[in-house]
Amino acid sequence: MHPELRRIRQAVAARLRPKPALTVSQWADRYRHLSSLSSPEPGPWVTDRVPYDREILDCFHPDDPTEWIVFRTGTQVGKTEALLNVLLFYMHQFPRPIAYVLPNEQACNDVSEQRVDDAIKASPALRALVGGAATKDADGRKGKDSIQAKKFPGGMLFLLPATSKAALASKPCGVLLLDELNRFPRELEGEGSPVHIVEHRSQNFVERKIGLVSTPTDEGDSPICDWYAKTDQCVFDVPCPKCGAFQALNFKKSPDRLGGVVWREGQADQACYECAECGHWIEHHHKQEMLRHGRWRATATATLPRARGFHLSALYSPWVSWGKLAGKFLAAKKDPVLMRDFVTLDLAEAWRHGSGAVVDPDLLEQRAETGWGAGQRYEVPAWVQVLTSFVDVQEDRLEVSVWGWTVRNEGALIGHWILFGDPPTRGAAVWAECYAILSRRFRTPAGMLGISAGGIDTGSGSHWDAAAAFSKTYALQKRRQFLTKGLSSPQGENDPRPIWHQKIAKKKGTVHQVPINVSRAKRDLMLRLAKDDPPMIRFPRETTPAIAPEYYAQLCAEERVRTADATGRSVAKWRLKKGHDRNEALDCMVGAYAAFLGLDYRQLPLPCGDRGDLSPLVERTETTEPLRSIEPAAMMAATPKASAPKKPTSKSVGGDLWRRLKRN
Ligand SMILES: [Zn+2]
Repeated sequence: MHPELRRIRQAVAARLRPKPALTVSQWADRYRHLSSLSSPEPGPWVTDRVPYDREILDCFHPDDPTEWIVFRTGTQVGKTEALLNVLLFYMHQFPRPIAYVLPNEQACNDVSEQRVDDAIKASPALRALVGGAATKDADGRKGKDSIQAKKFPGGMLFLLPATSKAALASKPCGVLLLDELNRFPRELEGEGSPVHIVEHRSQNFVERKIGLVSTPTDEGDSPICDWYAKTDQCVFDVPCPKCGAFQALNFKKSPDRLGGVVWREGQADQACYECAECGHWIEHHHKQEMLRHGRWRATATATLPRARGFHLSALYSPWVSWGKLAGKFLAAKKDPVLMRDFVTLDLAEAWRHGSGAVVDPDLLEQRAETGWGAGQRYEVPAWVQVLTSFVDVQEDRLEVSVWGWTVRNEGALIGHWILFGDPPTRGAAVWAECYAILSRRFRTPAGMLGISAGGIDTGSGSHWDAAAAFSKTYALQKRRQFLTKGLSSPQGENDPRPIWHQKIAKKKGTVHQVPINVSRAKRDLMLRLAKDDPPMIRFPRETTPAIAPEYYAQLCAEERVRTADATGRSVAKWRLKKGHDRNEALDCMVGAYAAFLGLDYRQLPLPCGDRGDLSPLVERTETTEPLRSIEPAAMMAATPKASAPKKPTSKSVGGDLWRRLKRN
């Protein structure tokens, strides 16, 4: 049938079909139950608890003319539960093919099992509908079908990864929900953006609904903000309990106007909201009542036909007090990376990066401090909690950095070593020297501290053999020293993969390779490196061997540039500045930081200066540990068991410090 004819037929059928009189929010109030697994408030859904959801949900009703619903949201406002309401409403009331698109396959599996299945099980009306449809494979486990596609009478729910062109293009659906839009790939090779691929497949549906939901990212590279800009850009006005004036809530108080989150010195946890009209300090307990009377207000005329946009920050969340947000803001003032999270995740605003953090190597050198440094009386400052290392393998040398870190992501360089030799042809002496550094303990004010984790760069793969032999010979994986490889992704900084992505292979004797998301690590570190007064990343003035001025030049050798990729889309990437050709110092800092992120924050020991369990200080000598030289042939032939040196393992840091779960 001609698509236009089909469209008309569907339109007529839709008009004639009697529909239940329930809006989406009324339906949710009647049929939706929240389980204790996914909700802090299990039991029947109550739209009055999140009154801002009412209008957004009701836009999704087939009778509502809205086609595009853009929800630019902060965390903790309940956006996933809202999307689940829409899904379940359609499954129950207007069955049809539905697509729930998520950033990748892992997210699809997680959401399918932890959120969708759970929501269906918790709501009796849905349980009866979908209950028997789950398919199982021969082993009696849930088949892939039931994870990524759920059948119900009259329709099908597909959970589609935004990374799969084939999956997105093959399923024509009338209801499209795209969650975490900003984590989607911006383009799929030769096919345009994932949004346009699925949108194209829904064109034959009358009453189609496309929901785009996400927290923002960087300004200029935040699809949810671009989509929001095409809508009527609604903000949520709530009344002041004192004077009744309606106003949208904003975190920042501007100096010449009233309004914003306010607190007395030292009492951020009791922060109030200052009315923009009468200046009254509104306490948190009024929030629920204010929300109940709130209303959405359009601030623009939509340029995209039948589109509505909603912006909601965590200021409106019934579960987050203004005091908690004020506390987060104060903590974020100490760390630019936390500030970025606060602005994007809590305030749902795009982060203004400017042209990238500008760091001056001379200023870094001037900032260097005394009191610690490799080869000094104390090598590690008392405030450091753990040490990590990174080895950069070059054609004629190894470069090794040791860094100290705290739970607040403050870093201190302990030392940087350049070991000349011939690593690619397995020059044993240079690897032995390297091992001497990785296995040694460093003097802290309270005792000797070992390195907790680290990485060894394998370059573009050309040094793999030598590095793998090194790893096996010295049983480095037992010391949480892993071979690494920097990811280079066309997505640049927006590559959502974690900075340190470790999967433990089960096979014994395997040499693991851990991918490092270098772009994201550089973004975080350069923001922190630029922070002065007090600095977050600190350098020692005196070390043995000495830190050369070249070291600081290398740390600042790269700049953040926004380039257009093949499709003309803007991507933020890091590249060497003009006139710079070396960046080993930067690579070593990035690698050591990534290895630190592989550790579990919750298990970090006390700052080393406060600990009583460290082994006694060793008096300063020229070489604290003897070099252990081996022949190249022996190194290649060695098995980890036979040649693993019996060094005391780092008892200072618990064995469970190494976290197997991804954190970043
Ligand atoms: Zn007021």
